[in-house]
Amino acid sequence: MAKLMGGSAGFHVQGAHMQASRPPSLSFRTCAQLEISRFCTIPRFMGVKAVNASQQHMRHRFSSIRASALPCMQDDTTRYFDFVVIGSGVAGLRYALEVSKHGSVAIITKAEPHESNTNYAQGGVSAVLCPKDSVESHMQDTIVAGAHLCDEETVRIVCTEGPERVKELIAMGASFDHGEDGRLHLAREGGHSHNRIVHSADMTGKEIERALLQAVENDENISVFGHHFAIDLLTCQNNGEIFCYGVDSLDTKAQKVVRFISKVTLLASGGAGHIYPTTTNPPVATGDGIAMCHRAQAVISNMEFVQFHPTALSDEGLPIKPAKIRDNAFLVTEAVRGDGGILYNQSMERFMPLYDDRAELAPRDVVARSIDDQLKKRGGKYVLLDISHKPREKILAHFPNIAAECLRHGLDITQQPIPVVPAAHYMCGGVRAGLQGETSVKGLYVAGEVACTGLHGANRLASNSLLEALVFAQRAVQPSIDHMVDADADPCLAEKWARPVLSVSIKDSALSDIIEKTKKTRMELQSIMWEYVGIVRSTNRLKNAEWKIGDLESEWEEFLFRRGWKPATVGIEACEMRNLFCCAKLVVKSALARRESRGLHFTEDFPYLEESKRKPTVIFPTAIQELTWSSKPLQRQLQCK
Ligand SMILES: Cc1cc2nc3c(=O)[nH]c(=O)nc-3n(C[C@H](O)[C@H](O)[C@H](O)COP(=O)(O)OP(=O)(O)OC[C@H]3O[C@@H](n4cnc5c(N)ncnc54)[C@H](O)[C@@H]3O)c2cc1C
Repeated sequence: MAKLMGGSAGFHVQGAHMQASRPPSLSFRTCAQLEISRFCTIPRFMGVKAVNASQQHMRHRFSSIRASALPCMQDDTTRYFDFVVIGSGVAGLRYALEVSKHGSVAIITKAEPHESNTNYAQGGVSAVLCPKDSVESHMQDTIVAGAHLCDEETVRIVCTEGPERVKELIAMGASFDHGEDGRLHLAREGGHSHNRIVHSADMTGKEIERALLQAVENDENISVFGHHFAIDLLTCQNNGEIFCYGVDSLDTKAQKVVRFISKVTLLASGGAGHIYPTTTNPPVATGDGIAMCHRAQAVISNMEFVQFHPTALSDEGLPIKPAKIRDNAFLVTEAVRGDGGILYNQSMERFMPLYDDRAELAPRDVVARSIDDQLKKRGGKYVLLDISHKPREKILAHFPNIAAECLRHGLDITQQPIPVVPAAHYMCGGVRAGLQGETSVKGLYVAGEVACTGLHGANRLASNSLLEALVFAQRAVQPSIDHMVDADADPCLAEKWARPVLSVSIKDSALSDIIEKTKKTRMELQSIMWEYVGIVRSTNRLKNAEWKIGDLESEWEEFLFRRGWKPATVGIEACEMRNLFCCAKLVVKSALARRESRGLHFTEDFPYLEESKRKPTVIFPTAIQELTWSSKPLQRQLQCK
């Protein structure tokens, strides 16, 4: 079973059991060291560049062929690259554009390349670009929003390097709004004490994605594999250290398994919003990267901190309902509150000042909980966000996308308030990363929403995630190049792992039963998560969730295997389902481990902050994996001797 450490327990590294279960490559600060620091510090993975004895051994073992020879060894089912990037959002694309100067790059992405959380980002990217603003102020806002669980070093790095990363984006062709003075227009959002949000109207993510995809298209060293679903990482274990050599993918258009062998793998697969029924995330956000890493025995952290955006458009409250249920809830950006939007309940009573002095400008967790409380107390299905008191031209200039979406459904936001509800929005936890995006698995780096760098702590400050993705995508570049130069790849490596198999041997009728059952199971899992692991939690409800999810998973697996499914069989619905199960269980376990309320994690049984619990939750891998299908990699991890 995966070893989970939460609260104070997570750092009692002296414990004999912890010593045994932690991969020896990880280096952790001791509890005492943590406590003398004002801000809680996420432990780092050390020695990324150092070549130790076991790596030397591996190099010898797998040596023979250099990077330049790899691209010519492609065939339909096995492809060799220096760098494999999983995900084509801001993190993956930005990284690919840098490492492509040093070797061949494959970007594999599960849908159309633009389909990503990035593409939906509205508000913008936060960066200190105004002389009146300061890095210290941005840091302070980040740390306060993160309920003092942020890693101060990470926060400093991101706030300091951020402005440069934004300027690079502009140099690459991203176009952001300018004010009448000709300077970048900097908006303000909840939790920020200065105007520092660089934006492109309310479609900032789309503009960033457009500019980066355009640059990727012009880069001869990058190959993009759309509709390739990453299934599991290919890993080897040597002397207790785990090494990554690429990933298996399912080409969902051609219906074939394609193995990517690489010297370096960057995981930039985004979030896990679809563990909940209502989410602002597009359908691709099923937590695949976190689940893959957990199965590959990487360290996972802070999964209890799921950000619910307080203001997703409530279809229930629209005069004209959408013709079909949306895959993802439409977001009404934070910037609407930043621009003076007021929240009312359905009796048109302003309620935010009752909960927090900052009223509508309070951080997201506070606003989401306040709305949740209003809905529970008053039995409503939505609350109202009103911006109609602002000049019409300004509303239309700042929020053209929201205005158009509402108008399509019979609502004029320049005249009427917008019906809104909270929706799952952002995963603050993820694969634990060091300051250069390194993970506990050698050759595997992470950037963007899939990573837990320590920036967000217990809650993400608005517009800090695009920034984090940009900064960490860049920081992972140099160690990746160093690793790539050091690594050699054996052409026979590709055949060392058994290959996943397609579901072709399963009868059509059984297969459609499986797909139907999986759809139903997915909805059941999502409703358990919403009901028992939502905005306000309790130990009892979390335990119930753990038990219900366990039962649901066993029932689903039994159903599949009774109909001819095998452990190595792959199909996109089932693969996503096992990833959703894996992530949901990580969230529940982490939430149960945190016996206090902090940031996004609020539990009725421990409703207060506790200084002694101001530590990240860490899920360490152990040698013995849980026996469920979702927690085991399809390919057995190799022992490299
Ligand atoms: C509606 C909305 C509005 C937002 N607004 C803002 C904002 O204003 N400012 C801000 O800073 N942040 C915002 N965010 C958050 C921000 O957009 C994301 O955190 C950020 O874009 C994540 O970038 P990423 O590159 O890590 O992941 P993503 O952009 O999500 O990209 C992930 C990529 O991985 C691919 N992928 C996933 N699984 C697999 C798999 N198994 N195999 C292959 N490919 C896979 C996906 O297809 C996708 O291409 C918003 C998010 C949403 C949903």
